[in-house]
Amino acid sequence: MAISFGTNRPWGAVSQHEFRRMAKDPRHLLPYRVQYAAIGWADRHGHASFQAGELAALLAGSDGKALSKQSTTGAVSRAKGLDLVSPQSSAACLVLPRYLFQKEKGAPIPCRAHKDRR
Ligand SMILES: [Zn+2]
Repeated sequence: MAISFGTNRPWGAVSQHEFRRMAKDPRHLLPYRVQYAAIGWADRHGHASFQAGELAALLAGSDGKALSKQSTTGAVSRAKGLDLVSPQSSAACLVLPRYLFQKEKGAPIPCRAHKDRR
C-alpha cells in the first residue's frame, strides 16, 4: 500500500536506525524513548515487537541497568497517556497509529501480542 496520510498532510521519511539509537539514549525522557523505540522497530503494520525483557534492556538508564518490569510498564503507560503510541501497546509490542507511521517496505514480523492485528 502506498504511503498516504491524507490530503494536505505533508510527510517525510525518518531513519529507523537513528530512532533505535535515540531510544537507547538515557538523556531522553522515558515516554519519548518508548515512542522512539516504536518508530525505530516498527514493521510495515506499525508494530514493534520485543522479546521478554528486550524493551526493558533498551530503556536502560545511564548505569546500563535494564529497567524493572514495573518501570517499563509505567513508561509504556505514560507514552500511551501522551498519545505517543497506540492504546494497545505493551512492553511486548509497541504499536503506532497509521495516522502517525506508515512504511511501504519490509515484511511484517509475526506479532505474539496482537494475533488479530489489522
Ligand atoms: Zn503487535
